[in-house]
Amino acid sequence: LNFAHMGLDWRLLQAIAELGWAKPTLVQEKAIPLALEGKDLLARARTGSGKTAAYAIPLIQHLLQVKMSPSVTEQAVRGLIVVPTKELGQQVAQMMRQLTMYCARDVRIVDISGQADMAAQRPILMEKPDVLVGTPSRVLAHQQGHNLSLQDSLEVLVMDEADLLFSFGFEEDLKNLLCHFPKIYQAFLMSATFSEDVQALKELVLHNPVTLKL
Ligand code: AMP
Repeated sequence: LNFAHMGLDWRLLQAIAELGWAKPTLVQEKAIPLALEGKDLLARARTGSGKTAAYAIPLIQHLLQVKMSPSVTEQAVRGLIVVPTKELGQQVAQMMRQLTMYCARDVRIVDISGQADMAAQRPILMEKPDVLVGTPSRVLAHQQGHNLSLQDSLEVLVMDEADLLFSFGFEEDLKNLLCHFPKIYQAFLMSATFSEDVQALKELVLHNPVTLKL
């Protein structure tokens, strides 16, 4: 299966070509078609497998479709990518920016995983970026500070390196954050290992997921 056969928006295909990616990696080949069908996914995938694009491509495709729909006019934070570290947040945001190089005005990405001042991030969030990248604590803090209202807008949730979210002590913040999500959203859980914590998280955020053990 090739990228060209997945029914992706031309702006995504153009960016993929620009990046010089000849074909999808294994995790991408498995995950992208399922994600585009609307399935929730639990994927065991390591750094270097192409796991970031495996969720970034369907997320961007979803946003482009939503934004082309004539009935949708309101700007909203529709995608949330939860990461355990600032470093991963930067990498993910960079990959998202590369994949949106031909639709940067339609898919705006904001990374709040760094230690920047909460108050400085507030006006940026008020503009409602399409995708927010952040650690559980910072996203929760903005939600509690009314700078964000995910319950009204979240459509796609990604938790990347989910096992590390637990190792780094984000469990409590994650649980609190879950209370602010709407009833229905699509979710992708990426993890290097399927620990007990990750299994428990799966029960909390995924609905009839497809599990990919790659
Ligand atoms: P990741 O596993 O998401 O950290 O990605 C590892 C590296 O693989 C990144 O530098 C990506 O730019 C690159 N990459 C992702 N997908 C592909 C692909 N289909 N073909 C070639 N390189 C890719």
